[in-house]
Order: sequence, then structure tokens, then C-alpha cells
Amino acid sequence: MQVISSYNTDLKLRAESSSGGVFSLLASHVISEEGTVYGAAFDKQWRVAHKRVTTPYELQILRGSKYVYSHIGDIHQQVMADLSDGRKVLFSGTPCQVAAMAKIAGNHNNLLLVEVVCHGAPEPSYWDRYLTELLAQQGRSRADIKSVNFRDKRNGWRKYNFTIRYNDGSEYTEFHGANLYLAGFLRNYTLRSACFKCPFKYPDGSKADITLGDFWGIEKLTEISNDEVAKGISLIICHSDKGRAAIPDEAIARSFTFQEVAPLNKALTKCASRPADYDKFRRKAAATDSLCSVLNKFTREPLMLRIKVNVARLLSRLGIKK
Ligand SMILES: Cc1cc2nc3c(=O)[nH]c(=O)nc-3n(C[C@H](O)[C@H](O)[C@H](O)COP(=O)(O)OP(=O)(O)OC[C@H]3O[C@@H](n4cnc5c(N)ncnc54)[C@H](O)[C@@H]3O)c2cc1C
Ligand code: SF4
Repeated sequence: MQVISSYNTDLKLRAESSSGGVFSLLASHVISEEGTVYGAAFDKQWRVAHKRVTTPYELQILRGSKYVYSHIGDIHQQVMADLSDGRKVLFSGTPCQVAAMAKIAGNHNNLLLVEVVCHGAPEPSYWDRYLTELLAQQGRSRADIKSVNFRDKRNGWRKYNFTIRYNDGSEYTEFHGANLYLAGFLRNYTLRSACFKCPFKYPDGSKADITLGDFWGIEKLTEISNDEVAKGISLIICHSDKGRAAIPDEAIARSFTFQEVAPLNKALTKCASRPADYDKFRRKAAATDSLCSVLNKFTREPLMLRIKVNVARLLSRLGIKK
């Protein structure tokens, strides 16, 4: 196993990517050898599904994390057909999607399996409902959307925004901490229940050649400028010789041990924890037309409650209120 920090030296590609843009680096190389690349993209209805890409231009549709469980469809058959034609293939996805692909294809020389570190993936129906409600509030339709970015780095890698750009040049953008959909994801309410018992965690779960993630906390391990960090840094873990050979030497910024990075990225080794009121959230969400109001209640109420309790304590300490 080799653990590496890295980033794409093409600043535009790095800015369009969620971490350091290493996926684009790997994918461009496979395409330059007339191979095919598979990964998660938006479809015409802005739902998330796996797509096959064969040109550098098309690669943009796979760039960026989409926080929705991606629909796989007949992708496995397409991958197997490409392999039978003698093409090199890069298949990317969540660790469970990569494990399923590995089971079908076996250890094929021409298949490079690339997984993302995975906090968990929301059920697609939540994204669908959220988008419908948001667009209705905005007086927009899906046809008005130009792009959706769950990890817009305009204010930096850590302070990312959720952004929808419209065809008329306007946009809806919100700090991730204030966005209801991302609050549901980050607080685990919208994750698939399978994600709370994910068998694809380290040290034994991964079936990939390469794992890609965010190198959160890199500044604790090495000297690096705030400017560089704000652009996004990738964590690469190579599990196989095939994986190591796919990483160009010039893309390696520094090597680390797994023991150094594991405490900085909990999703590598630990499953997301199931909220105590997860089932209640699901019941409430199923019983209403407004997912946003339920998300608001479950993800904001604890915060408001904390503020109220703290204010009450302060007032009591000051003798203003018992
Ligand atoms: C649902 C999800 C949860 C994640 N959780 C974490 C985490 O907890 N910690 C962490 O360090 N990193 C996490 N990541 C990975 C991280 O956000 C980046 O995707 C990864 O570091 C690759 O970044 P990049 O800059 O190299 O390329 P980018 O261009 O940003 O990413 C493109 C790659 O992401 C894949 N991808 C995008 N959306 C999906 C999707 N819905 N399903 C499957 N694959 C997808 C594409 O197929 C492609 O391989 C998560 C990603 C996803 C999709
Ligand atoms: S947490 Fe595990 S089960 Fe859930 S999407 Fe990620 S890899 Fe799949």
C-alpha cells in the first residue's frame, strides 16, 4: 500500500474538481491510450447515473463529487464489452460499486478500479425531491439548469458552497453548512441504511487498485501554504502494482504512512453513524410533500435547541432568569 498527497497542476481542472483533481489526471491518461472511463455524471433530468466517456472533452461530466447514490444501469455489461474489445478501462465509483465491478470482471489486466473514500451516499429519491422543491421555490425547471456543483470551491476547498447555475447566467449558491440537502447528507439522515454497516472499509474492505479522497488535515503532517490548501489536495492510496503504475511520478507531492492519514479521514476506516432518530426522519419524510421542512426540522432543530439551552443557562447565571 502506498499513501500519497497529490494535486493536478492544471489549475482550471483542479478548481472544477472536489479534491485535488487527481481523478482527471488518471482518466486523461487512460483516454490518451484510447481507453474508456466510467464514473458518475448527471443525466438530462439532473439525476445521477454512471456514464461511459471516451474523449477528454466528455470527461467534464464525471468531474466533481455528486452526493447521491449513482444509478449503475447496464454499465457492467458495457465495461465487459470494452474489455473484450481489448480496451483499457478505468471504472470509478463508491467502494461498493467498485467491489461489484471487481466481482464481475475478476482481476483483469486492462481494468483499473478507482474508488472514492466514502462517507456514505444519499438515496437518490431525496436528491430528486430536494431539487424539485428548490426549483419550485425559485420558479425554475430542470430545463433551466446549466450545472450543479455540490463542492463549489469559490471560497476555498474547505469552505465549499452548493451551487446551481442557470442557463440565463444567474445562480443559486449557498455555503455548505447552510444548505439543507448537504445538512441531511453530512448529518447522515439521507444516507442509504446500508452505509451504516458498510463492509468496504479499511483495512480489508477495499477491492480497488486506487482510492481517492480529500487530504483533510494535510497541514498537520507537512508544511503547506494556506493558498495551496484552499485549492484542494487529493489523498491517493495505491493498493496494487497496477494502481501504483497509473500514478505519474510527477503527480506525487509527498508519501505518508496509512497510520498517519487514517486518524485524519474517519471515512476510510469507520462507517457513518446512524442518527438515533433516523427511522423517525424517514417516516416524517415519507408522510409529507415537503422534504425541505423535514430536513429543516431534523438538521436545524438540534442547533436551535442548543442555542436556546445555552442562552437560558447564561441568563440563569446572570440572575436574569431562573
Ligand atoms: C458520495 C461520496 C462521498 C464521499 N465521501 C468522502 C469522504 O468522506 N472523505 C473523503 O476524503 N472523500 C470523500 N469522497 C471523495 C471526494 O469527494 C472526491 O470525490 C475524491 O477525492 C476525488 O476527487 P478528485 O478531485 O480527484 O476528482 P473529482 O473530479 O472531484 O471526482 C470525480 C470522481 O468522483 C466519482 N464520483 C462522483 N460522484 C460520485 C457518485 N455519486 N458515486 C460514485 N462516484 C462518484 C466520479 O466517478 C469520479 O471518479 C466522497 C465522494 C462521494 C461521491
Ligand atoms: S458507505 Fe459503503 S455502502 Fe454506502 S455508498 Fe459508500 S461504499 Fe457503498
